[in-house]
Amino acid sequence: MPPDASALLTASGIDAGYGTMQVLWGVDLDVRPGETVLLLGANGAGKTTFLKSLVGLIEVRQGAITLAGRDVTRLTSSARMRLGMTYMSELAVFPDLSIEENIRVGAQALGHANPDARADELYGLFPVLREKRRAPASSLSGGQRKMLGIAKALAAEPKLLVMDEPSAGLSPLFVKEVIRILSDLQGRGLALLIAEQNIGFLDIATRVFVLEGGRIRFSGTVAEMTDNDALRRAYFGLK
Ligand code: ATP
Repeated sequence: MPPDASALLTASGIDAGYGTMQVLWGVDLDVRPGETVLLLGANGAGKTTFLKSLVGLIEVRQGAITLAGRDVTRLTSSARMRLGMTYMSELAVFPDLSIEENIRVGAQALGHANPDARADELYGLFPVLREKRRAPASSLSGGQRKMLGIAKALAAEPKLLVMDEPSAGLSPLFVKEVIRILSDLQGRGLALLIAEQNIGFLDIATRVFVLEGGRIRFSGTVAEMTDNDALRRAYFGLK
């Protein structure tokens, strides 16, 4: 697939794996500026492996990744971060560091001139974090930790936030809250790529990719996915 010139991120023909085990087979995916793309797939489908290969935490064996028109396939993850792509893993925060320190770590990749001013903006988005800023992240509730994970990722001022299962470990109420926050960030022009099993995230997605056994089984709009009987049966019974 030739890279789409209007895309913010393109992944073309990605193969990746661990040792002798190949997990991803020719995966193609793209994210346009300001767009929210959902990557659906069951446990073990390869979602985390794919996200890690995008952000530079796993080496790509075949294929290419471009970010804002630049080939980043062989760049380090911090170089990709400086170019505007930040990764939020399932764990997302350092539990022993304070809230303030976590946000500073997030801003580090940019060498931000004024990390306190950036932290202040983020506390505006997440007031609960300001109240607790000197407390260790481990003292936060699951939902608050996820907020901190998002704040830490935003500290690097990304154009694209790549998230691995932001709903993991959260009660339905907090999942709703995370979706609300992400929809607010969309309104500010942030592009999102979200790997999930929770189809509640379809509400904020523009397009969906479905990964099965390390291969893209479907890509299209949310409406196209819901029109597909087999996919509807396979995915709409999930949490
Ligand atoms: P989950 O939702 O359970 O995280 P996933 O879709 O993110 O699933 P991956 O975590 O990418 O899937 O796993 C894909 C395959 O790669 C699985 O078979 C998994 O056991 C294997 N795998 C993942 N991480 C490693 C690793 N560090 N070393 C070896 N195999 C791994």
